[in-house]
Amino acid sequence: MPSATGWSEPVPSATPEPAPAVAPPLQGGCLCGAVRYEVAAGALGAIVLCHCSQCRKAQGSAFAANAPVRSADFRLLAGADELRAHASSPGKWRSFCGRCGSPIHSHREGAPEWVRLRIGTLDTPIAARPSAHIHVASKAGWWDIRDELPQYPQTEPGRR
Ligand SMILES: [Zn+2]
Repeated sequence: MPSATGWSEPVPSATPEPAPAVAPPLQGGCLCGAVRYEVAAGALGAIVLCHCSQCRKAQGSAFAANAPVRSADFRLLAGADELRAHASSPGKWRSFCGRCGSPIHSHREGAPEWVRLRIGTLDTPIAARPSAHIHVASKAGWWDIRDELPQYPQTEPGRR
């Protein structure tokens, strides 16, 4: 609408700023907050629910919820000096917070370009959902799987 001056006044934009072209990273951390990390947007691989006996011990639960992330897309923001690692089998390292014990990720010496993130430590909500149950051959007897996801006796096919 023309103003008294005859010129159209600039209309204030309803949206303050255009969204950044690059989505913000996902954030997460351990229970006590000493360890904080971020994962590049879109870098989270397929989520699997791992029922192996080692994951059950490490989580204290029926299964772990893990997703592969390229090491280059995982960045530790705080707590590098608190992070401890346990070799649960030769060359397989499980990293956890040395203060509160939260499992953060695991990696294999033979595949340093990947970490397998424990996604229960994510704070940022994600749209992705689990894709499969794995290592169901060593599942806890007290846990009944009651969903329709594929189940694999060992690792999922095409695992990275
Ligand atoms: Zn902690």
